[in-house]
Parts: sequence; structure tokens; C-alpha cells
Amino acid sequence: MTAVAATAGSTLLPKIAMASPPQDPVVNTTQKDGKPVTYEKISWRVKPFPMKQVRLGEGPCKIAMEADRQYLRSLPPDRLLHNFRVNAGIPSSAQPFGGWEAPDCELRGHYAGGHYLSAAALMYASSGDEDLKNNANTVVAELGKCQAALKSGYLSAFPIEFFDRLRERQRVWAPFYTVHKIMAGLLDMYVHTGNEQALEMVEKMAGWTAGYTGSLSYDHMQRVLGTEYGGMGEVLCNLYAVTGKEYYLEVAQRFDKKVFFDPLAAHRDELKGLHVNTHIPQVIAAARYYELTGDRRYRDIAEYFWEEVVSERSYCTGGTSNGESWNTDPGKLSTELGPSTTECCCAYNMMKLTRHLFGWSPDPRLMDYYERTLFNHRLGTINPEDGTMMYYLPLASGYWKTFGKPFDSMWCCTGTGSEEYSKLTDTIYFHDDDSLYVNLYIDSHLEWPEKGLSFRQETRFPEEQGTTITVSAKKPALMAINLRIPYWAQRGSVKINGSELPAFSSPASYLTLNRTWKAGDKIELSLPMELHIDPMPDDQTIQAAMYGPLVLAGRLDPVTKEMSYGDYEPKPGDQEKVPDIIAEPARPTAWIEPVDNQALTFNAVGQAKALTLVPLYKVIHDRYVVYWKVDNKSA
Ligand SMILES: [Zn+2]
Repeated sequence: MTAVAATAGSTLLPKIAMASPPQDPVVNTTQKDGKPVTYEKISWRVKPFPMKQVRLGEGPCKIAMEADRQYLRSLPPDRLLHNFRVNAGIPSSAQPFGGWEAPDCELRGHYAGGHYLSAAALMYASSGDEDLKNNANTVVAELGKCQAALKSGYLSAFPIEFFDRLRERQRVWAPFYTVHKIMAGLLDMYVHTGNEQALEMVEKMAGWTAGYTGSLSYDHMQRVLGTEYGGMGEVLCNLYAVTGKEYYLEVAQRFDKKVFFDPLAAHRDELKGLHVNTHIPQVIAAARYYELTGDRRYRDIAEYFWEEVVSERSYCTGGTSNGESWNTDPGKLSTELGPSTTECCCAYNMMKLTRHLFGWSPDPRLMDYYERTLFNHRLGTINPEDGTMMYYLPLASGYWKTFGKPFDSMWCCTGTGSEEYSKLTDTIYFHDDDSLYVNLYIDSHLEWPEKGLSFRQETRFPEEQGTTITVSAKKPALMAINLRIPYWAQRGSVKINGSELPAFSSPASYLTLNRTWKAGDKIELSLPMELHIDPMPDDQTIQAAMYGPLVLAGRLDPVTKEMSYGDYEPKPGDQEKVPDIIAEPARPTAWIEPVDNQALTFNAVGQAKALTLVPLYKVIHDRYVVYWKVDNKSA
């Protein structure tokens, strides 16, 4: 972080080590005899605000959140409960969902009793939607009856025999993955809506898990982990953090996958060949082990993994994976572009991991990555028309976006997407004891009642190149406001109450404004965007064009409704041909010119074909190009 000089009436100070507040939103809700308790050994230096203190204003994030909220509201509890009831021997005449919630799908229940509950709980925290909370409470109560009928604490929409197959290493899809989603959903219902029954239910499930895993030797359990494990480590850690029962932490660590952790702890990238989205939750669990035990090895694992994935294995959108896997050595991405690059769940889980690292140390690079992934891979992978979501975000040229069907897809990415757009309020602002971090430029309102402060951020970002923050204060308050200056902001300026400060901060830093803030104080931040390129690390002639934080996509021909819905990815090989781009090496973005009076719209100039470029997140039903093959213009 860069410090700049002091100026009259306000000082711009370097950040110093901060006091240690209690940990994260999970723990904030834990009370004993009316007092907050924490079981965290390593507190976050900076922490988010409870989501109920942040509300979104108009803009692309609100549009995504509302599409998600309407989708969640469209799911009837009886349909969500159908497979659980059937599995528990309770009659159900509801129409089952299709896709990954179909009655014969081995992952059934992952969405209906898992992601749905997490998403509803998070959405309630973000929006206060009481109807949705009531529906989710109904689902919890009815799942409670299913759990009672199944006895033993087990709760799932598929028979317990799936776990026998897992133990014997016979073919089975991912029962712990599914059970983790249900446990996380119940725990989120407890944390965000105060549903006590949900906590009792998840403790029973943890008890069942302890019995199952406790009957296996360490080596046998490691072989089970060779098949699957989901996010069991994380949810059991969180259950310990909420209850203080150390036993859950012990059970959590039975899910440590040794062959995965050991090379990471030794700073060796042996990620090639691994399935991506199942391994990121192992690292999120490692982050939680570090926080709950103080064991530095786990922090090393998490930080090395993050660096390696973000700097060596991620595309311009922030996404990672191809066909769900890492198939190459570090930094080799140019041969990986296809119809099934960058699974959406991976973006969700990497952003979740990023928040932990940021909590430990508020490095602006972490939020640069977060912003990149939010604006390029998360916005634009939910269909604003109906809340359906994508599985892969294809990055090979000439393909298009495919969305699930509302009731007959229910993929993993439908689940993580339902959660993502329910919690867009959770990272805009962080704080420590005496300063505020403005991480993201999103129209929103923040309440900070402990300080008697509230903040109104007004912006049409990214259509507007900056933001305005107005302070409301019951009485004047001395504090630092840290504004993130993104990596892409080469120039910029800030005004306080109309007066421009003589100094600014460098890209990828926080600009600290330290002063006594009073009601009506106004900060105007200007962050001019410029065109820049993001080439493939292993082939500089394959380039994505960016404008500020935004990946620009060449907009090609529209696709039909039939092509837009139902599949994980577009049909391999069905690509619209895209001409090479001719560019000057010294001026690599000179072929892209803004269109007058049309925000975020550009034309290609001097090319074989007329092309329009817009932010990738705005392309919904058109074929597109992200990575261009660029030929040098001969002199
Ligand atoms: Zn997925």
C-alpha cells in the first residue's frame, strides 16, 4: 500500500498494524449468556460488516441480485422437499425437479436442501425478504421430520448406502459433497436467520459424520478422500466456531487430503491433472484450520495455492479450469481455450478463499482479483431475464453463453450462483476498529451503528468512472477511510467537499483519508478507465482487450433460445469464425475506438470485418470473442 503526502484538513497515512476484532460473520452471531464469544485463534485484521448493514442501490449488481431473488422465490418448498421425503419414507406427491435434482440423480438434495437454504439465508441477510425466509424455515422444519424418520442423524435425499459404496470405493458420485451442502445450508439458516432447529439438525449430521469417519483408519479415510470429500472440512470448522465443541474440529481434520496439502505446503505446484472445483474447498478448509488453530502451515498452503492459481492458472476474467480440471503446467493457458473453460463454481470458491486472505492481511491485490472476477465472471453468468445460471463460461472465440433451465438443471453452478448473487453485499466494505475499507465501487448504503455512522455510495460504476461517498454522522468522528485504487487506475483524483487533494495513490493500493468526518462530508473519487491488453502468459499473440476492470468481448451473431438453454456448454466445434486482428505492437489497443455517446461500447478499426466490443458481462444471447489472435501490422 502506498502512502502519499498530507494535505490541509486531511492526512493521507500509511496503513499500520491494526487492532484485532473478532473474526467473521459466522462467529459474530455466537453468544453465551448474552456476550459474544469467539473460538478463533487468529482474528481477521479487517472484517466485513454483517450483510444486513449493507444494502445495494441500483446497478448491475442489484439486477443480478433481484434476478436471483425472484428465482429463489419461484421454488416451492414441497418440490424442494420431494426427494428428501421419499428417501425418508414420508409420502410426497410433489412434482420432482429435473437435472441434478432428478429422483435418480446421485447428487439429489445438493441444491434443494443445501444451496437453496444457504442462498435463502444469505438473501434474507442482504435484502430482508421475509417470504423467502419463511419458505426456507418451512424447508428446515420438514427436513427435520425427514431426519427424525431416518434416525441416526443422517439427512440426505439419497439412501445411506451411497456411503457404503464410498467406503468400499465402489462407483458413486459425491455423497459427502452433497451432505456438505445440506450442512452448510442449515448452518447458514442458523447464522443468518437465527433458526435454532437448523443448528440442532446440523449437529446431528456432524454426529453421524463423526461415527462414519471414526470407524475408518487414517489410511482408509485418505483413500475415501481419493474419491471425494466436498467442503466437509469447512462446515465442520464453522460448526466448531459456532458451538465451541472441539470435537467438530477433530472430525473436520479427518477430511484433510494429505497428498494435496503436502506439495502445497512445500510450495510445489502439483495441481496439473486435478479436478479444480473439488479442491478449492480443501483450501478454504485449510484457511479455517489456520484461523481456528493458529497452525501457520495451513496459512502457507492457502496463500501459496491462491498465488499459484491466480497468477499461473487464471484467465483474464479471473476464472480458472478447463473441462473442470487443470490440465497443464503452470502458466500454460493458450492451448486451453475451449467451450468448457472456467467453471462458474471455481470463481465462486476462489472469491470465497480470497476473502479469508484479505481478512488476514488487506492486500489490495486480493481485491483487484476479487473485482476482476466479480465484474467479468460473476456478473453476466446469471441471466438477468429469468435468474438462470451458467455452468462454464467459454473463452474460445465464437461460442456463446448457455444457461440452465429454471427447474430442470439445478447444477452445482446453479447452487453456487444462487449463493453468490445473494451475498453481493458482503465484500463492498470491510473495517477494523478505526477505519473503513471501500473495496468495491458498487452503488450501496452502509450502516455502522457502533460508530454512529452511515455511508451512501452513489455510482453507476462501471459505466461511471468513479464514485461518490456521502457521510452521515451523529457526531463528528475521527477515522480513516481507505479507498481502493485498482491496478488499472493509472490516473485518478479525489475531492473532499469539492476540494481536490494535491496527491493521489498509486495503482493497486489503498488511499487513506484520515480526518474528522462530519455529517454531509462528501468524497468524490475519479478513476479514469483506459484500454489495455491482457495477453496469454505463454503466447503473447493471443490477447484479450480490457477497459479498466472490464474484459471486452467482440459481439458476434445472436443465438436462438434453444441454443441458450439447457446445456453445460455450447456444442463443441460450433464456432463462428473470427478473423485475426491486425495491431501495432507499440500501440496494442489502437485498433479499438470508443463509440461516441454509447457508454462502454467500442468499434474495431482497420480490420477485415466490422466488429463491436462491449463488456463481456453485457453479452447474454450473442456469440462472442474474448481472446483475439493478433498479427503484427507490418511497417
Ligand atoms: Zn459448478
